[in-house]
This record gives sequence, structure tokens and C-alpha cells, in this order.
Amino acid sequence: MTGTVTNWAGNITYAAKELHRPSTLGALCSLVAGSARVRVLGSGHSFNEIAEPGPEGLLLSLDALPPEIDVDTTARTVRVSGGVRYAELARRVHAHGLALANMASLPHISVAGSVATGTHGSGVGNAPLAAAVREVELVTGDGTTVTLARGEERFGGTVTSLGALGVVTALTLDLEPAFEVEQHLFTELPLSGLDFETVMAAAYSVSLFTDWRETGFRQVWVKRRTDQPMPGFPWAAPATQALHPVPGMPAANCTEQFGVPGPWHERLPHFRAEFTPSSGAELQSEYLMPRSYAVDVLHALDTIRTVMAPVVQTCEVRTVAADAQWLSPAYGRDSMAVHFTWVEDMAAVLPVVRRVEEALDAFDARPHWGKVFAMPGAVLRKRFPRLADFRRLAEELDPAGKFSNAFVRGVLED
Ligand SMILES: Cc1cc2nc3c(=O)[nH]c(=O)nc-3n(C[C@H](O)[C@H](O)[C@H](O)COP(=O)(O)OP(=O)(O)OC[C@H]3O[C@@H](n4cnc5c(N)ncnc54)[C@H](O)[C@@H]3O)c2cc1C
Repeated sequence: MTGTVTNWAGNITYAAKELHRPSTLGALCSLVAGSARVRVLGSGHSFNEIAEPGPEGLLLSLDALPPEIDVDTTARTVRVSGGVRYAELARRVHAHGLALANMASLPHISVAGSVATGTHGSGVGNAPLAAAVREVELVTGDGTTVTLARGEERFGGTVTSLGALGVVTALTLDLEPAFEVEQHLFTELPLSGLDFETVMAAAYSVSLFTDWRETGFRQVWVKRRTDQPMPGFPWAAPATQALHPVPGMPAANCTEQFGVPGPWHERLPHFRAEFTPSSGAELQSEYLMPRSYAVDVLHALDTIRTVMAPVVQTCEVRTVAADAQWLSPAYGRDSMAVHFTWVEDMAAVLPVVRRVEEALDAFDARPHWGKVFAMPGAVLRKRFPRLADFRRLAEELDPAGKFSNAFVRGVLED
């Protein structure tokens, strides 16, 4: 197939005019072995050039390979092939009475692409989605396969890898018994006097939403596991109608609210698999900071509220538990995450992204790898303490730099 290849948002048109879709592992390995530069495009939900192989490079999709989802009910694991998306995986896992610990706001994204960028949901006890990965199967530059497993020292660089180590052909993930979740929404939570730790720990997963047009949060989404106590939520008023996090968008696109219990995979994401997630016409940025800074972070952002408001569709505040992936924005620290859904206008958004980064500079902010950021490489190298270890791992697994690209070089190289 030749033509124009873009990401989901449409703000990136890849230099590669062709998306190669091998239908067998053998064909994939030959393509990789015969190419000088390779990148995989997952479901294309990133907002920057992380997947761009460059004009001479090969852009690969795994969506023509047979989708494999092998659930082991005894070991409580699932082996999932590299092109599978969370929606399909979650349905299959649930049918076996099992569950993933957490999900992102949408189930449309590929598993391999999500864990490569450090994608996360919310919850004081919930680490990024990569934390569930126990084994990674990679096709490396010479077309051979290598499997890396949890417990190996270098595994810390293997899952949240920015796609820079090879083609991830399969992942094995931890599962747990299936559980049900109720979603309770509240409105108008004040910033003044906010007890961030208590509010965010009120249930399994809690998100705050603001559009920064006013101080404080217009919406609070509280996702309670029905096997955990019912939280009191005295800080805000219960919502009286179903809501979408982006003002003006239809609530029908969102997962069931008003405390109706349902399976984990139909409540943990905000957006239903059958509908366009979020607004569909947007850019996104996100930063993770140590959770202990949360209240100060929110007040610092509030001081530039009027700068942000004209280009914000919605802003979501979540918590993410620390993980051990070297390139994870939550590496080694329990975090708060501030996400921005911007208007679809890079020229208007980029100066505001820079202002946000200035405001967050004092808080050791780390950007989400799949979203728009302006932080230079020199700053990133200070913020991610294991970058040098990752660079050594990339040199070991990909000595020719076949899976590197301008984005990765900008992150890793002085
Ligand atoms: C509407 C919307 C909502 C979102 N909500 C959230 C959220 O709640 N939480 C959050 O953290 N993020 C969120 N994101 C961001 C999103 O999760 C990330 O951008 C994620 O990377 C998307 O996965 P993908 O497969 O689309 O990745 P892509 O953009 O396709 O790829 C991302 C990276 O992974 C690499 N890659 C993909 N597949 C493979 C493979 N098989 N082998 C090797 N490398 C591979 C690519 O080369 C690239 O470097 C959201 C994005 C959108 C558009």
C-alpha cells in the first residue's frame, strides 16, 4: 500500500510513504534483515514523531500478522502478539474470568505501542501498563528473535523502550481474577484546600478534570472496585447527568456512569471501544511529577490558567504508582500526571506547551513519550536517571542503530 501514512490525530505525516504489512513472522524477519532503518507503527495514537523511521526507513505494521491471544488460566498470564489492541485483549481475558490490573483512558491502542511509551491509567496503587509485562519477544536487526524476561537485569530497559530495541512480536502479561467496577462522577471540586492524597486514594482509580477556565475541577471520575469499600466523597457534588471529559462531546461515547457495576474493561477506560475516544480533533501533552509535589504543581499551573485555557479542551490529573522501567516517566517515584487535551492547532499549542514546561520546571517533570513536548534532550537526560543504561542496552541489542530514529537520537545523544 503506498500513499500517505499519518498518525491517529493526523498531525504527523510519516516520511515513509508505504506501510509494510507482513503477514508471516518469516516475512517480517526478512523485511527487517534487509532494511537499514525500521520502525513499527502500532495503532498510531502517539502525537509526535516517535514512530517516524525517516525517509529511507521502513515503516512496519503488524496488523496483518495472525492476532494471537493465548490465555494461561493456571499461570494467570496472557501471551499477546505485537499488533493486538487492548479492546480485543481485554474481551478475551475477561471471557476467561481474568483481568488486567488497569487500562488507559481508551481501549483502542495497541498493547506493544502503549507499553513502549509508558502509557498509564490512574490509581495510587496502579503502575503504568508496562508493569504487567513479564516477557518481551523481539525481532532484532539481523532478523533473529530474542526473548527477554522479568528478573533479568536488562529487563528494566526492555518494555518502555520507545520502540528502539527491535520489533516486539509478542508480550506476556500478568493477569488477576476478573473484577467489577462502578463509576461515580462528581462535579465542582475546589483547588483551594484540596487534600490531594486523600481524594486520589478514595477509590481504585480517580481522575480530576479541568479546562482551566476557572480554578478548580469541573469533574471527578471515581472508579471503585466492587470488592473494595464504598468511598465517601464529601468534597464535591454527585453529577446529575452523564458526562464526557471534553465539554460539549456526547456522554454516550463514554463508559457507563452513575455507579452501575460492570466488568473492569468496560469501566476503567473512560471511552467505549466502539466510539471515537476523546474529542478526535486534538493534540495531547502530559507530564509526570513526584506525587508529593501535587498540590504545588496544581497551584503553579493555576497561575498560568489564562494562558492555557484558550487552547485546552480538557486537562486530566491522575496518579501513577512507581515502576521499574528505566525510561518510564514514573520510574522510581509515585507520581501525579497532568494531561492536556489541546485544540488541534500546533502553532497555537506549542508556545503554551513551553509555558507549561517552564511552570513545571521546578517539579522535575518528565514528559509522556507519546505526546507533544518541547523539552530539549539535555533536560530529558537529567530527568530520566537511567537513560545511559538504556543507551547501552540499545547498543547491545541494536548495534547498527537500525531501530533508532531522530526522536530517539534526540533523547539519547548529547
Ligand atoms: C485519545 C487518546 C487517549 C489517550 N489516553 C492515554 C491515557 O489514558 N494514558 C496514557 O498514558 N496515554 C494515553 N494516550 C497516548 C497513547 O497511549 C500512546 O501514545 C501509546 O503509545 C499509543 O499506542 P500506539 O500503539 O498507538 O502507539 P504508536 O503511536 O503506534 O507507537 C508508539 C511507539 O511504540 C512503537 N511500537 C508500536 N508497536 C511496536 C512494536 N510491535 N514493536 C516495537 N515498537 C512498537 C512505535 O514505533 C512508537 O515508537 C492517548 C492517546 C490518544 C490518542
